[in-house]
Amino acid sequence: MLKQDKDSKKVLVTGGAGFLGSHLCEKLMNEGFKVICMDNFLTGRMENIEHLLGKPGFTFKKHDVTTYIEVKGSLDYVMHFASPASPIDYHKHPIHTLKVGALGTYNSLGLAKDKKAVFLLASTSEVYGDPEVNPQNEEYWGHVNPVGPRSVYDEAKRYAEAITTAYHNVHKIDVKIVRIFNTYGPRMRINDGRALPAFMCQALKNKPITVFGDGSQTRSFCYVDDLIDGIFKLLMSDINYPVNIGNPNEISILDFAKEILALTKSKSEIIFKELPINDPKVRRPDISKAKELLGWEPKVSREEGLKKVLDYFKKELGI
Ligand code: NAD
Ligand code: UDP
Repeated sequence: MLKQDKDSKKVLVTGGAGFLGSHLCEKLMNEGFKVICMDNFLTGRMENIEHLLGKPGFTFKKHDVTTYIEVKGSLDYVMHFASPASPIDYHKHPIHTLKVGALGTYNSLGLAKDKKAVFLLASTSEVYGDPEVNPQNEEYWGHVNPVGPRSVYDEAKRYAEAITTAYHNVHKIDVKIVRIFNTYGPRMRINDGRALPAFMCQALKNKPITVFGDGSQTRSFCYVDDLIDGIFKLLMSDINYPVNIGNPNEISILDFAKEILALTKSKSEIIFKELPINDPKVRRPDISKAKELLGWEPKVSREEGLKKVLDYFKKELGI
């Protein structure tokens, strides 16, 4: 049952038609918020939010947030999720990625300031770059090549964190910064180039699984429902500094490929391709802060999460 009424809090979600943004809009609607979803469909899709269109309290606005954002009436929260997020996407849109991290964040912060709204930035574990420590806690400053191929994304997010913090210090805006680690779930695009959709689709079609490098690099995958739950808890908190949200269960990419092969009962072989430049060798969140301050930790195991997402990929591929 929808709980929206005249006293409902109003939230703007930029990038709301994307993978994470659409799950976030859904969660906020379920929590009784009025939601304005804003997106320019650079990498997002209308079908991600089709089920929300027409529901009381949900509005969609097509807009590019690198240009001035106008919203009539009051706003209680601004959540800035707009940005290409997968390596293929940000390599295809390098300048836009920098613009949406810089100008998009600036415009979203300006709006939050004007409306006296709480601001939440979707940042990333990529601010840690190719880390020299494992796991990564929020005190680690990172190891980013400012002119490497991933820099358009990493540095845009680092700038976004810097300007968000400056708006908090100077304009006293109530800000939240979530450092999101690799997340998966329904509504990921099958061809966004990320390891999980790539492996799932290759396995389901019995095509070779493309592991980059020798597959010894690690990642830690979080199921989308857990992530959104953590982000909502952060939004409701009074914490104004960055917080890692992710699943600390770390796995090598080669073992991850093998897990997906076993799950899909696929006949695919594993083939090895060149490791992309500056590909992080390890990645695992230290979630002590989220545990202590938000009482949050992930609940969905990788085994359970992969089973859930398998059905989605089968449907997407018409299997
Ligand atoms: P996504 O590509 O599915 O979603 C991004 C959305 O932003 C898309 O709908 C796109 O159309 C929209 N967008 C891009 N530029 C825009 C602009 N100028 N104006 C309006 N809308 C614009 O990616 P996602 O995985 O859902 O990522 C969402 C956010 O979370 C991003 O900020 C990303 O950096 C962050 N993040 C995601 C992950 C992950 O594992 N998925 C990890 C770390 C951080
Ligand atoms: N990767 C891979 N094969 C693919 C796609 C990705 O081996 O077809 C690797 C990639 O090099 C990286 C890891 O899987 O080491 C995770 O990549 P993804 O793009 O999913 O996320 P990110 O590198 O941004 O963490």
